[in-house]
Amino acid sequence: GTAVSLEDVRKTYQLGEPVHALDGVSLTVPRGSYTAIMGPSGSGKSTLMNLVGCLDTPTAGTVIVNDTDVTTLSDRERTSLRGTEVGFVFQTFNLMPRLTALENVALPQLFQGASKNERRERARDLLARVGLADREDHLPNELSGGQRQRVALARALVNDPALVLADEPSGNLDTETEADVLDLFAEFHDAGTTMVVVSHERHVAERAERIVHLLDGKIERIEELDESGDAD
Ligand code: ADP
Ligand code: ADP
Repeated sequence: GTAVSLEDVRKTYQLGEPVHALDGVSLTVPRGSYTAIMGPSGSGKSTLMNLVGCLDTPTAGTVIVNDTDVTTLSDRERTSLRGTEVGFVFQTFNLMPRLTALENVALPQLFQGASKNERRERARDLLARVGLADREDHLPNELSGGQRQRVALARALVNDPALVLADEPSGNLDTETEADVLDLFAEFHDAGTTMVVVSHERHVAERAERIVHLLDGKIERIEELDESGDAD
């Protein structure tokens, strides 16, 4: 099956001179695959992720996520899709400032019907897996940028979404933490999660099965990577 399908997607920003952020992009992301998006600054990577993550709508074309044409959804339906089926790792964290790290991670489960204890245990497990077991009770402003990024990541993964979208997920992280986060992505991928990760760093993109190279709002080429390294 198909996790994401883009058909001739265009996104034009109209601020004086029109900017064609995406200029006819067609792309199919199979369920359970691991895709990286690379490209220079301004090539349309974030625009693409925002469309797939239902944060924005295209000027033309179709965006299908998990068999749903998301361009026809209401705001409420898009928010619901984002909270459950799609885990979106925002570049700018979006953590709730008055909630602790643990509470932030537990939040998306509120609508899942789990008990409070189950939610805490699940949030605790995710925080431990991003290396923040000892920061559960800290507020976002008591955490470093990289730690906040990991809390946001744990929150995006806590509902076990079928599709994870991550925009520069390791941008702020030191080498060791970055490796932990990429290992976590690999674990989710091994468990069947569809991963789409934007990175300008080759070694991050190479953890994927293929790299989609964007240039000036178009797909320049798609690079299939050999299954090697940690693949079995
Ligand atoms: P990337 O993530 O690859 O750096 P973006 O998708 O952020 O690229 O941007 C693609 C193009 O669209 C750039 O030229 C950028 O300046 C423009 N752009 C992005 N967001 C907006 C916006 N909200 N309003 C106007 N132009 C925008
Ligand atoms: P709007 O539609 O007004 O832009 P959203 O519906 O996207 O706002 O989000 C409402 C609130 O829920 C925001 O504070 C946002 O940060 C939060 N939120 C949205 N998606 C998620 C998510 N997947 N996990 C946790 N919080 C989320």
